[in-house]
Amino acid sequence: MSDQNRRVAFLNEMGLGPVWSRRGAATLLEQDDAPADAPVPVISSVTASAPVEKELRVAENTSSAWADVAPAKIAAISPVVTKPTIPVTEVAQMDWEQLKSVVSTCTQCDLCKSRTQTVFGVGDQKARWLFVGEGPGRNEDFQGLPFVGPAGKLLDNMFVAMGMKRGENTYIANIVKCRPTDSNKRDRPPAGEESRSCMPYLERQIALINPTVIVALGKTAALSLLKLDPATPVSKLRGTVHRYAGLPVIVTYHPAYLLRSPADKGKAWADLCLAMQTYTGSADA
Ligand code: SF4
Repeated sequence: MSDQNRRVAFLNEMGLGPVWSRRGAATLLEQDDAPADAPVPVISSVTASAPVEKELRVAENTSSAWADVAPAKIAAISPVVTKPTIPVTEVAQMDWEQLKSVVSTCTQCDLCKSRTQTVFGVGDQKARWLFVGEGPGRNEDFQGLPFVGPAGKLLDNMFVAMGMKRGENTYIANIVKCRPTDSNKRDRPPAGEESRSCMPYLERQIALINPTVIVALGKTAALSLLKLDPATPVSKLRGTVHRYAGLPVIVTYHPAYLLRSPADKGKAWADLCLAMQTYTGSADA
Protein backbone atom coordinates (compact mmCIF):
# COMPACT_ATOMS: atom_id res chain seq x y z
CA MET A 1 0.00 0.00 0.00
CA SER A 2 1.38 3.44 -0.87
CA ASP A 3 1.93 6.04 1.83
CA GLN A 4 -0.97 8.07 0.48
CA ASN A 5 -3.31 5.09 0.51
CA ARG A 6 -2.23 4.18 4.03
CA ARG A 7 -2.87 7.76 5.11
CA VAL A 8 -6.34 7.68 3.57
CA ALA A 9 -6.99 4.34 5.28
CA PHE A 10 -5.78 5.85 8.54
CA LEU A 11 -8.14 8.82 8.26
CA ASN A 12 -11.01 6.51 7.40
CA GLU A 13 -10.19 4.28 10.35
CA MET A 14 -10.32 7.39 12.52
CA GLY A 15 -13.88 7.77 11.35
CA LEU A 16 -13.44 11.29 10.07
CA GLY A 17 -12.20 11.05 6.51
CA PRO A 18 -10.63 14.02 4.74
CA VAL A 19 -11.96 16.69 7.08
CA TRP A 20 -10.98 20.30 6.55
CA SER A 21 -10.96 22.69 9.46
CA ARG A 22 -9.83 26.19 10.28
CA ARG A 23 -6.18 26.21 11.41
CA GLY A 24 -6.91 28.63 14.26
CA ALA A 25 -8.89 25.92 16.03
CA ALA A 26 -5.75 24.42 17.59
CA THR A 27 -5.44 24.80 21.36
CA LEU A 28 -2.54 26.22 23.29
CA LEU A 29 -1.75 22.87 24.87
CA GLU A 30 -1.04 21.02 21.65
CA GLN A 31 -0.65 23.80 19.12
CA ASP A 32 2.21 23.15 16.76
CA ASP A 33 4.20 26.27 16.13
CA ALA A 34 6.29 25.14 13.20
CA PRO A 35 5.69 23.40 9.86
CA ALA A 36 5.29 19.66 10.11
CA ASP A 37 8.35 19.09 7.95
CA ALA A 38 10.58 21.49 9.88
CA PRO A 39 13.93 19.88 10.74
CA VAL A 40 14.22 18.71 14.33
CA PRO A 41 17.87 17.95 15.01
CA VAL A 42 17.64 17.41 18.75
CA ILE A 43 17.61 13.84 20.01
CA SER A 44 16.93 13.59 23.70
CA SER A 45 18.09 10.76 25.90
CA VAL A 46 16.97 10.24 29.48
CA THR A 47 17.13 7.53 32.03
CA ALA A 48 14.46 6.52 34.48
CA SER A 49 16.40 8.03 37.33
CA ALA A 50 17.20 11.39 35.70
CA PRO A 51 16.09 14.35 37.85
CA VAL A 52 13.20 16.53 36.84
CA GLU A 53 14.50 20.08 36.57
CA LYS A 54 11.38 22.14 36.10
CA GLU A 55 7.71 22.06 36.82
CA LEU A 56 5.44 21.11 33.98
CA ARG A 57 3.00 23.76 32.86
CA VAL A 58 -0.51 23.26 34.16
CA ALA A 59 -3.04 24.09 31.48
CA GLU A 60 -5.99 25.75 33.10
CA ASN A 61 -7.48 26.45 29.73
CA THR A 62 -10.78 24.63 29.46
CA SER A 63 -10.09 23.91 25.79
CA SER A 64 -7.28 21.54 26.73
CA ALA A 65 -6.93 17.98 25.50
CA TRP A 66 -9.34 16.95 28.22
CA ALA A 67 -12.30 19.01 27.12
CA ASP A 68 -13.55 16.49 24.60
CA VAL A 69 -14.03 13.66 27.03
CA ALA A 70 -17.73 12.95 27.11
CA PRO A 71 -19.48 13.36 30.43
CA ALA A 72 -20.41 10.28 32.39
CA LYS A 73 -22.24 9.56 35.59
CA ILE A 74 -20.44 10.68 38.71
CA ALA A 75 -19.80 7.73 40.96
CA ALA A 76 -19.62 7.97 44.70
CA ILE A 77 -16.16 8.87 45.95
CA SER A 78 -14.80 6.71 48.73
CA PRO A 79 -12.93 8.37 51.57
CA VAL A 80 -9.17 7.99 51.20
CA VAL A 81 -7.13 6.64 54.07
CA THR A 82 -3.69 8.21 54.19
CA LYS A 83 -0.82 5.73 53.99
CA PRO A 84 2.93 6.17 54.40
CA THR A 85 4.97 6.90 51.30
CA ILE A 86 6.39 3.84 49.59
CA PRO A 87 10.08 4.12 48.72
CA VAL A 88 10.82 4.24 45.01
CA THR A 89 13.32 1.43 45.46
CA GLU A 90 10.50 -0.82 46.68
CA VAL A 91 8.28 0.08 43.74
CA ALA A 92 11.14 -0.76 41.39
CA GLN A 93 11.16 -4.34 42.73
CA MET A 94 7.44 -5.03 42.51
CA ASP A 95 5.74 -7.54 40.26
CA TRP A 96 2.50 -6.76 38.43
CA GLU A 97 0.17 -7.80 41.23
CA GLN A 98 2.09 -5.94 43.90
CA LEU A 99 2.21 -2.85 41.72
CA LYS A 100 -1.52 -2.94 40.98
CA SER A 101 -2.31 -3.40 44.63
CA VAL A 102 -0.13 -0.50 45.77
CA VAL A 103 -1.46 1.83 43.07
CA SER A 104 -5.07 1.01 43.91
CA THR A 105 -4.67 2.45 47.41
CA CYS A 106 -2.00 5.06 46.74
CA THR A 107 -2.23 8.39 48.55
CA GLN A 108 1.10 9.87 47.56
CA CYS A 109 -0.33 12.97 45.97
CA ASP A 110 -3.47 15.04 46.34
CA LEU A 111 -5.08 13.48 43.28
CA CYS A 112 -6.11 10.61 45.55
CA LYS A 113 -8.61 12.88 47.27
CA SER A 114 -10.97 13.34 44.36
CA ARG A 115 -10.61 10.11 42.42
CA THR A 116 -13.35 7.53 42.11
CA GLN A 117 -10.72 4.87 41.53
CA THR A 118 -7.22 4.59 40.17
CA VAL A 119 -6.64 3.82 36.49
CA PHE A 120 -3.67 1.49 36.39
CA GLY A 121 -3.38 0.70 32.68
CA VAL A 122 -4.56 -2.02 30.38
CA GLY A 123 -3.20 -4.39 27.76
CA ASP A 124 -0.69 -7.11 27.05
CA GLN A 125 1.90 -7.18 29.81
CA LYS A 126 4.46 -8.37 27.27
CA ALA A 127 3.43 -5.87 24.58
CA ARG A 128 6.00 -4.57 22.14
CA TRP A 129 4.05 -1.31 21.87
CA LEU A 130 3.43 0.99 24.84
CA PHE A 131 1.17 4.03 24.49
CA VAL A 132 1.36 6.62 27.25
CA GLY A 133 -1.20 9.36 27.86
CA GLU A 134 -1.44 12.08 30.49
CA GLY A 135 -3.96 10.77 32.99
CA PRO A 136 -7.53 9.64 33.47
CA GLY A 137 -10.44 11.89 32.56
CA ARG A 138 -13.97 11.71 33.85
CA ASN A 139 -14.94 8.60 31.89
CA GLU A 140 -11.71 6.83 32.77
CA ASP A 141 -12.09 7.67 36.45
CA PHE A 142 -15.59 6.27 36.38
CA GLN A 143 -14.72 3.07 34.50
CA GLY A 144 -11.22 2.47 35.85
CA LEU A 145 -9.81 2.06 32.34
CA PRO A 146 -7.56 4.33 30.26
CA PHE A 147 -8.73 5.93 27.02
CA VAL A 148 -12.43 5.21 26.98
CA GLY A 149 -15.01 7.49 25.38
CA PRO A 150 -14.47 9.33 22.07
CA ALA A 151 -10.72 9.77 22.51
CA GLY A 152 -10.38 6.07 23.32
CA LYS A 153 -12.36 5.14 20.25
CA LEU A 154 -10.06 7.26 18.13
CA LEU A 155 -7.02 5.62 19.70
CA ASP A 156 -8.52 2.21 18.91
CA ASN A 157 -8.98 3.33 15.30
CA MET A 158 -5.37 4.48 15.20
CA PHE A 159 -4.39 0.98 16.34
CA VAL A 160 -6.45 -0.54 13.53
CA ALA A 161 -4.80 1.76 10.98
CA MET A 162 -1.44 0.51 12.25
CA GLY A 163 -2.57 -3.10 11.90
CA MET A 164 -2.94 -3.55 15.65
CA LYS A 165 -5.64 -3.93 18.25
CA ARG A 166 -6.11 -2.78 21.84
CA GLY A 167 -4.88 -5.45 24.20
CA GLU A 168 -2.94 -7.40 21.56
CA ASN A 169 0.74 -6.53 21.62
CA THR A 170 -0.25 -3.11 22.99
CA TYR A 171 -0.34 -1.67 26.48
CA ILE A 172 -1.91 1.67 27.42
CA ALA A 173 -0.88 3.59 30.52
CA ASN A 174 -0.89 7.15 31.80
CA ILE A 175 1.59 9.42 33.51
CA VAL A 176 -0.72 9.69 36.54
CA LYS A 177 -3.14 7.02 37.73
CA CYS A 178 -5.71 9.35 39.28
CA ARG A 179 -7.90 11.92 37.59
CA PRO A 180 -6.65 15.52 37.84
CA THR A 181 -9.40 18.14 38.08
CA ASP A 182 -9.46 21.90 38.49
CA SER A 183 -11.43 23.92 41.03
CA ASN A 184 -14.52 23.55 38.85
CA LYS A 185 -14.15 19.75 38.77
CA ARG A 186 -13.13 19.84 35.13
CA ASP A 187 -10.44 17.56 33.77
CA ARG A 188 -6.97 19.08 33.48
CA PRO A 189 -3.45 17.82 32.75
CA PRO A 190 -1.43 16.68 35.75
CA ALA A 191 0.86 19.19 37.46
CA GLY A 192 4.58 18.54 37.64
CA GLU A 193 4.53 17.45 41.28
CA GLU A 194 1.67 15.04 40.60
CA SER A 195 3.51 13.57 37.63
CA ARG A 196 6.66 13.12 39.65
CA SER A 197 4.79 11.46 42.49
CA CYS A 198 3.27 8.93 40.14
CA MET A 199 6.18 8.37 37.78
CA PRO A 200 7.76 5.48 39.74
CA TYR A 201 4.67 3.40 38.94
CA LEU A 202 4.94 4.07 35.22
CA GLU A 203 8.67 3.46 35.36
CA ARG A 204 8.02 0.07 36.91
CA GLN A 205 5.34 -0.70 34.31
CA ILE A 206 7.80 0.15 31.54
CA ALA A 207 10.48 -2.01 33.12
CA LEU A 208 8.08 -4.96 33.44
CA ILE A 209 6.76 -4.59 29.90
CA ASN A 210 10.12 -3.75 28.30
CA PRO A 211 8.44 -2.53 25.09
CA THR A 212 10.15 -2.13 21.75
CA VAL A 213 8.63 1.31 21.13
CA ILE A 214 6.91 3.87 23.35
CA VAL A 215 4.44 6.33 21.83
CA ALA A 216 3.81 9.44 23.93
CA LEU A 217 0.30 10.76 23.37
CA GLY A 218 0.37 14.51 23.84
CA LYS A 219 2.81 17.09 25.04
CA THR A 220 2.32 16.49 28.76
CA ALA A 221 3.03 12.78 28.41
CA ALA A 222 6.09 13.48 26.30
CA LEU A 223 7.53 16.11 28.64
CA SER A 224 7.02 13.90 31.69
CA LEU A 225 8.54 10.83 30.07
CA LEU A 226 11.47 12.67 28.53
CA LYS A 227 11.94 15.12 31.39
CA LEU A 228 12.28 18.05 29.05
CA ASP A 229 11.86 21.75 29.61
CA PRO A 230 8.11 22.46 29.77
CA ALA A 231 8.58 25.29 27.31
CA THR A 232 9.60 22.80 24.61
CA PRO A 233 7.18 23.26 21.69
CA VAL A 234 5.41 20.29 20.16
CA SER A 235 7.23 20.95 16.90
CA LYS A 236 10.50 20.10 18.68
CA LEU A 237 9.08 16.88 20.09
CA ARG A 238 7.52 15.40 16.96
CA GLY A 239 9.52 13.83 14.15
CA THR A 240 12.37 12.74 16.38
CA VAL A 241 13.21 9.42 17.96
CA HIS A 242 13.75 10.30 21.61
CA ARG A 243 15.05 7.87 24.22
CA TYR A 244 13.68 6.82 27.58
CA ALA A 245 16.04 4.51 29.46
CA GLY A 246 17.37 3.41 26.07
CA LEU A 247 13.93 2.71 24.59
CA PRO A 248 12.78 4.70 21.53
CA VAL A 249 10.01 7.21 22.19
CA ILE A 250 7.89 8.76 19.45
CA VAL A 251 5.76 11.80 20.27
CA THR A 252 2.40 12.44 18.67
CA TYR A 253 -0.80 14.30 19.43
CA HIS A 254 -3.28 13.29 22.10
CA PRO A 255 -6.35 11.69 20.46
CA ALA A 256 -8.64 14.19 22.23
CA TYR A 257 -6.73 17.00 20.55
CA LEU A 258 -7.08 15.30 17.18
CA LEU A 259 -10.84 15.12 17.66
CA ARG A 260 -10.89 18.89 17.91
CA SER A 261 -8.19 19.55 15.34
CA PRO A 262 -8.66 17.04 12.50
CA ALA A 263 -6.34 19.06 10.27
CA ASP A 264 -3.46 17.64 12.31
CA LYS A 265 -4.39 14.01 11.73
CA GLY A 266 -1.98 13.91 8.80
CA LYS A 267 0.83 14.87 11.15
CA ALA A 268 -0.29 12.21 13.59
CA TRP A 269 -0.14 9.64 10.82
CA ALA A 270 3.40 10.77 9.98
CA ASP A 271 4.30 10.26 13.66
CA LEU A 272 2.81 6.76 13.67
CA CYS A 273 4.68 5.94 10.46
CA LEU A 274 7.89 6.99 12.21
CA ALA A 275 6.92 4.79 15.14
CA MET A 276 6.31 1.82 12.84
CA GLN A 277 9.63 2.40 11.07
CA THR A 278 11.37 2.57 14.43
CA TYR A 279 9.62 -0.60 15.56
CA THR A 280 10.66 -2.44 12.40
CA GLY A 281 14.22 -1.19 12.73
CA SER A 282 14.38 -2.20 16.39
CA ALA A 283 12.84 -5.60 15.69
CA ASP A 284 15.41 -6.22 12.97
CA ALA A 285 18.29 -5.12 15.17
S1 SF4 B 1 -1.83 10.09 40.90
FE1 SF4 B 1 -0.36 8.46 41.29
S2 SF4 B 1 0.90 9.19 43.01
FE2 SF4 B 1 -0.99 10.44 42.98
S3 SF4 B 1 -2.37 9.37 44.39
FE3 SF4 B 1 -2.82 8.61 42.31
S4 SF4 B 1 -1.57 6.75 42.12
FE4 SF4 B 1 -0.76 7.91 43.86
